[in-house]
This record gives sequence, C-alpha cells and structure tokens, in this order.
Amino acid sequence: LQSKLPNVGINIFSRISKLANEHQAINLGQGFPDYNMNPQLAQYVNEAMQKGFNQYLPMEGYLPLRNAIADKVNKAYGCNVQPTTNITITPGGTYAIYCAITAVIQTGDEVIVFEPAYDSYIPNIELNGGKVVPIKLEHPTYAINWEQVAAAVNTRTKLIIINTPHNPSGSILSAHDMQQLDKIIAGKDIYIISDEVYEHLIFDDHVHESVLRYPRLASRAFVCFSFGKLFDCTGWKIGYCIAPEILSAELRKIHQYNCFSVNSAMQAGIAHFMQHNNTYTQINIELQKKRDLLRQLIKDNTPFKLLPGKGTYFELYSYAHFSQLTEIEMVHALIKNCGVAAIPVSAFYSHAPVDNKVIRLCFAKKEETLQEAAQRLKGCE
Ligand code: GLN
Repeated sequence: LQSKLPNVGINIFSRISKLANEHQAINLGQGFPDYNMNPQLAQYVNEAMQKGFNQYLPMEGYLPLRNAIADKVNKAYGCNVQPTTNITITPGGTYAIYCAITAVIQTGDEVIVFEPAYDSYIPNIELNGGKVVPIKLEHPTYAINWEQVAAAVNTRTKLIIINTPHNPSGSILSAHDMQQLDKIIAGKDIYIISDEVYEHLIFDDHVHESVLRYPRLASRAFVCFSFGKLFDCTGWKIGYCIAPEILSAELRKIHQYNCFSVNSAMQAGIAHFMQHNNTYTQINIELQKKRDLLRQLIKDNTPFKLLPGKGTYFELYSYAHFSQLTEIEMVHALIKNCGVAAIPVSAFYSHAPVDNKVIRLCFAKKEETLQEAAQRLKGCE
C-alpha cells in the first residue's frame, strides 16, 4: 500500500501516554483531567439512557443541545448564531476541524498554519491534497507576526487556521490580532478555522477573543469547540462547530458520511446539564488554582523555567539553561528516571525541526497529583 501519510507515525500523545503507563509515570503529557466531571452531568447522561436516548439523533445534532449552545455563545460573544443552520454537533473538536478542512481544501490549495501547531492540522491538510504554509510563532511569546502572514498570503491561499487559547503554548490572540487577521483576509477568498476548544481556560482576567465576536471574520469561519475541555470529559469525544449556513452545509456533507450522528445519550445529557448550569466562570477559577500550584511547585522543586502562558491547561517550561538534551530525549529521561511524563514542544513542528528545549506540562490534575509530580521531579537534572 502506498501510504497517503508517509511522514506520519503514531501521534505524540499516544506514544507518550503508552510510555508513561509502561513506566508508571505521572502523566502530565496528554491533556486530560485526572479528576471526574461534575456528577450531575454523569447522572443526566445516565437518565438519558434510561429514557431511551439510545438510537440515532438528527445528523446535525440534538436540537435542544444546539439551542443551549446558541444561548451560550450569543450571550458570551454578542453574536447571532442560529441553532438550526449554524451549529453542528461533532464527535470532538479535532473531528470538527478535520471536517472543516475537508470541506474547504482542494488539491494545491495553500493553508497557513502557525507552528507549534496542534498535531492534527497538518496531516488533515495533506490528506486533502492541500499545501501547508507553516509560519513560526515567535519564541518565547508564541505571538503571531502579522507581517509574515501578510507576506505569505497569495492567490492560492484558501485557509488560515488559528487557535486561541493556543495549544501547546497557552498564548492567546488579542483584539488587535483579530483586526490584523480581518485586514489580511478582507476582499480575499480565504476561509478561517478557529480552534477555540480552550475558550473557557483563560486566566488572570484575560478575555477570550472568539472569532464569533467579529462578524466579518465569522462570516468566513468554522469555529470549533469541545465539551471534553469544557466539562472534563475528554474521553466522551463530543464537541461542535459553528459556521455560516453555507459552510455548515458543506461540513455536514462530510460529517453525514463519516460519523452520521453523535452519541445520543451524551448529547441529551449535556443539553439537560446546560439548561441548568449556564455560568462558566468557575472553570477558570478552579483551573487557575491548579496552574498557580504547578507554577509554585516547579519553581520550588525544579530548575525548569516557566514560559508564562495565558490560557489552556498547559504550561511550557524551558530547560535550555541546564541541559543540552533534545526535547524528546528530555521527555524520555523524565519518564524513565523521574516518573513524570511531559510533551516535547518539538512534536508540534512539522517541517523544519525546531528544538527550543521546552516541554509542555498539563496541570488539569488533582492537587496531590501535582504535588507528587513535583516531588518526583526534585533533583532531576
Ligand atoms: N488535545 C490533547 C492535547 O493536546 C490531546 C488530544 C489527543 O490525544 N489527540 O494533549
């Protein structure tokens, strides 16, 4: 068989989680909470199953869930999203991004991707015959240099993928960034995918600048979200995509022949939960406590140096000042010698190898997990 993805192996999250399990390491690598979700949500899903939500729901998603999402985003971002035409429930944010890329990209189309980039974007583009135009975020702020973007845009540019809050760096886009993006695509046939799965994980009073706040941008955008990140249930694989009617229709053509419709009981349970819980401020408060704890623990117990982020449940730590190991060597050493797993940021660069000696740690963990990880990292130089 001639591989359609000859340069792709098993992804970094699977590899590191497997290695972490083999070495009984504390997994601060792959992004998932080690605590359970709100029990009420689990109860509502359970009730939904008892009530008979066990067969297919409509392809676009359960309407009460789409209604609840429309209420949420319209209130938060001052937009006018319609549940029927603009919202599609998907099996996870990553899948929504895949469908959006597949809906837009034809052979030879160029896609601007900012690196480090979440690892699914580039294989998704290449699978669709697109050409990746990588632009490096500035190190160590991981900000976008818009002059570089303007210079990279040409008549073949079809899509720009943005991600705020940004995985893996935790950087966020500002209103100024959105204005720059708007200027660059004005009058051009360029679409946007905005990966906003960490919309609620934003700290220190920063505001999430959703594309949905910017009508001109939103009119050309697929905005992708994740319930896994919102409700601490990454393994449920459920999210949604918001897009203008024409774009949603194209996305649904792909979705209907891949997954058709998303897990019924989860959709019904989440809809019920959102009808009763419609404030989302507590998420940041809880996560910020964990972030601050990890910061303090790493500072007090290890030589790693923080590269401060503003959002997501990840933080980047540099070791350039005390080790010459490559990131992948460092991560392997940490797993094997200290029993703590992290993700090498080099895994988020595809084309040119970049090794800034930075690792990503996930802090969506119980306090005792973070404490134990810090103990294990003590003296690990
Ligand atoms: N989004 C998660 C992360 O960055 C992992 C997703 C996955 O395992 N594919 O860690």
